[in-house]
Amino acid sequence: MKRLVNPSVTRQVIDQFGFHFKKQLGQNFLIDANILGKIVEAAELTEVDGAIEIGPGIGTLTQALAERAGKVVAIEKDDRLIPILSDTLNEYANVSVHHGDVLEIDLPELIAAYLGDRRVSVVANLPYYVTTPILMKLLEERIPLHAIVVMVQKEVAERMAAAPGGKEYGALTIAVQYYSEPHIVCRVPRTAFMPQPNVESIVIQLKLRKKPAVDVISEALFFQVVKASFAQRRKTILNNLQNNFPVSGGRETVLHVLREADIDPMRRGETLSLQEFARLSDQFALLEQ
Ligand code: SAM
Repeated sequence: MKRLVNPSVTRQVIDQFGFHFKKQLGQNFLIDANILGKIVEAAELTEVDGAIEIGPGIGTLTQALAERAGKVVAIEKDDRLIPILSDTLNEYANVSVHHGDVLEIDLPELIAAYLGDRRVSVVANLPYYVTTPILMKLLEERIPLHAIVVMVQKEVAERMAAAPGGKEYGALTIAVQYYSEPHIVCRVPRTAFMPQPNVESIVIQLKLRKKPAVDVISEALFFQVVKASFAQRRKTILNNLQNNFPVSGGRETVLHVLREADIDPMRRGETLSLQEFARLSDQFALLEQ
């Protein structure tokens, strides 16, 4: 079978099927074999593992995954790509292509149907217009995954891997690091894709934690506090909570809670560690008891 990861083969397949790229579906196909190798290596797949690929395109990454994993399920939204995939992947007996929108699919059901009790990782060159909703679905729905290895826009990867104190640190950082340990694998230039995107990219590996990074009394409250703390980045934690996190007693209550959590009310949300957010949300939870 011809390797797709190369500009001339990709162009040939696209021309053969009269395919036209849809920008609104985030269609930028990988044509760089070196980057492909790094993605697959970071996925650490063995022949007993299962892999879910989101957005296989013409099957470039799918081919490489099929050669490493025991079983691959590729979810593609664009119906025009389905006949192309059955052609480019026809020699790979361990690949199933599932036509659908990943945001609407019942992933535990899909895993049960195709991957059984294999260790499962998600490996994808994600469509950038829906990166965050896709990652939040994988993390918040607690899909039983070993790892997530994804190509994303550079700025999004930097937000996921950020440390407290910088401008990249925000609600996405906290959510990702609550559920997983992020590691940046490599930076990817625009020239690695056809057509070239307007942004630079990064491959990031998220190793799912066995249990969340911090213990909290109420997870829902923890994420509400985080959201409120980053509502307006220039404001102090006191002002953000007062304006965006309704509690009876208003400012006085917020001051009391911050004091109990040992957090200076003049700090900004972006300086608080996960442990500090956990302490803060637990103090709010205690108010309700
Ligand atoms: N994996 C291929 C590669 O690396 O060359 C293609 C990657 S391209 C960046 C993103 C792919 O995701 C496209 O094939 C696009 O049609 C598909 N896609 C876009 N939105 C999707 C969704 N909501 N669910 C599933 N696939 C989607």
